[in-house]
Amino acid sequence: MKEESQIESVVILGAGPAGLSAALYAARAELSPLVLTGMTPGGQATLTHTIENYPGYPEGVGGAELGELFQKQAERFGARIEFDTVMEVDFSQRPFRVKTYSKEYLANSIIIATGASSLTLNVPGEKEFTGRGVSYCATCDGWFFKGKDVVVVGGGDSALEEAIFLTRYASKVTIIHRRDQFRGGALLQTRVRENPKISLKMDSVVKEIKGTDKVETVLLENVKTKEQEELPTDGVFIFVGHSPNTKLFEGQLKMDDRGYIEVDMHMKTSVEGVFACGEAADAEYKQVITSAGMGAAAAIQASRYLENLKK
Ligand code: NAP
Repeated sequence: MKEESQIESVVILGAGPAGLSAALYAARAELSPLVLTGMTPGGQATLTHTIENYPGYPEGVGGAELGELFQKQAERFGARIEFDTVMEVDFSQRPFRVKTYSKEYLANSIIIATGASSLTLNVPGEKEFTGRGVSYCATCDGWFFKGKDVVVVGGGDSALEEAIFLTRYASKVTIIHRRDQFRGGALLQTRVRENPKISLKMDSVVKEIKGTDKVETVLLENVKTKEQEELPTDGVFIFVGHSPNTKLFEGQLKMDDRGYIEVDMHMKTSVEGVFACGEAADAEYKQVITSAGMGAAAAIQASRYLENLKK
């Protein structure tokens, strides 16, 4: 039987940089926020080995370590963290309702910080070999490819950064990118080009991932010449972008055509009292620092909204 709880001031959905920064600010506003972590406490940042562009850490900081520090700081001021996943929300009535597997929460305000998930290539073999050579997380799986050859698919910051990280383990890393220009930043591009373990296959796409028990080759096609080749490899790391985790809110909040929640500069969504921050509402920047900033702003606005409710 589902339990029903008291009315919370603010329930925060997600515990990445946005959710935990919102929790810190809401806790310091003495709102005793409840954070429902979802499946990835610490968010996508925990999947990154080292974060080099979060200010205050001149030598970089581990992604998982930064997540733990965010959580510790929020808890120090009274944030409550529940390892629970939201199944359903109802923003049509007040207090708002949030259902998890085991419980239903009532809340006067909501801060959505559900982040984003990795996109897949959708090619034959990708699903079959996930966990058997296909991976979306170099930090998690890189170690298994010690002394082996791997390919990295994508041309954004994630692909470049993770390709460099994988050279710690792999003997050779081949980046496969569909254009002749990378999307990722200039510094990462320089590091990639200067790394003797990395080679590039530009203008190329993966048509199929092949193997028997585990990955053995990738079938590539040059997008300009249409020539195909089968490249032997032990691993396929896929970093082709993300999509926002916002399916739960479809039909209840305004979103753009890619599913990013529409917010104004105060992180207000189309429903008064519901705020959104971080990658669930940011198609543009997607940085730890911008997500943290959006989280802080969302909590400040939630606090003002709750003050006004009392008047
Ligand atoms: P991204 O910037 O969206 O890049 C995705 C890459 O995958 C692009 O190069 C894209 O090609 C390629 N791609 C997309 N769909 C594909 C497909 N079906 N087949 C083959 N290639 C495909 O994603 P991201 O690299 O994950 O980065 C996401 C955000 O996080 C960005 O804003 C990025 O700046 C940020 N980020 C920052 C850092 C950092 O600051 N160190 C690290 C990681 C991520 P096209 O270029 O042709 O579109």
